[in-house]
Amino acid sequence: MLHSFIREMPKVELHVHLEGSIRPKTLLKLAEKNNVPIPVSTIDDIEKWYSFTDFDHFIDIYRIIGECLQTLEDFELISRDFLKNQAQQNIQYSEVTFTPLDHRHKVSLDDQLKAINKARFEAEKELGVTLRLIPDMSREKTAIDDGMELVNWAIRNMENGIIALGLGGPEIGYPPKLFESIFRRAKKFDLASVPHAGETEGPKSIWGSLQALHAVRIGHGVRCIEDPELVQYLRDHQIPLEVCPTSNVKLGVAKSFEKHPLPQLIKEGLCITINSDDPPMFGTTLTDEYLNIVDTFQFDIKTLKHIVLNSVQSSLQPIDAKMGMIYNFKQSFIELENKLGISLG
Ligand SMILES: [Zn+2]
Repeated sequence: MLHSFIREMPKVELHVHLEGSIRPKTLLKLAEKNNVPIPVSTIDDIEKWYSFTDFDHFIDIYRIIGECLQTLEDFELISRDFLKNQAQQNIQYSEVTFTPLDHRHKVSLDDQLKAINKARFEAEKELGVTLRLIPDMSREKTAIDDGMELVNWAIRNMENGIIALGLGGPEIGYPPKLFESIFRRAKKFDLASVPHAGETEGPKSIWGSLQALHAVRIGHGVRCIEDPELVQYLRDHQIPLEVCPTSNVKLGVAKSFEKHPLPQLIKEGLCITINSDDPPMFGTTLTDEYLNIVDTFQFDIKTLKHIVLNSVQSSLQPIDAKMGMIYNFKQSFIELENKLGISLG
């Protein structure tokens, strides 16, 4: 019963990458169209090749995805695909990360946004799903000047779908402090800071993100559990964590799904949201993430609903939109429980 509830319940997703959401089939199509050599040529083979093996392979797929995105139409296609998939899972609102600087030598920042927005407006009208954008930059590839260009561009487009600034890439060797001036500029214009931190690096990366980058939400953040003082800070300030369990297992942040610190994080009273990160690459979806946490950790429906509502609460929508969505989600939960003949609390 809980499985049916999860499949049908309304959802919000806060940590998912546009490039990392491209389906293998679409990538194959783009590679053929743009003459990008890839090591496979059939749907079956690309699905096998796509599935996660190790970190180097993961980076390699990301590199090829970058090469395959060459035109405005390509961005439209992947955005449309993404939104269709979100709608199929009843993910009514998504804050999606993308890395514009990776593609600007082929498609300008403005054209990338134009293409994504075209798909965004269509999806709002036709599918009833909403999208907001988080441009991010890779720590290892972004010089301060480029980061400044990105943040200024993002600030100019805050009325145009952009809702926050992200930071990704390897944490080790790239402390948050290096990007302080860029995020200071974002803060000056009320552009929210949502960096990845506490995934491959421990608590000091999260502290750095809070102190130097003024993070309002932490991408991953699961390694906060290593520092009780940090846990207390995150709890006291209810800074949301964007937890992506399958991604953590595949990338070795957690040893297995069973050993993932999620139950501990919840027990500590932290504000936890569940997300899929790079779903086709990790062989998951947001729906699967919910199914897996409920099966693995035996969460009851009350905990499940609480996590879903955390995501709405932790989104960067205006407060009235958030309150309206919380009300609507609660109504849907009641309707679904009635429909499925369950009264689970
Ligand atoms: Zn991520």
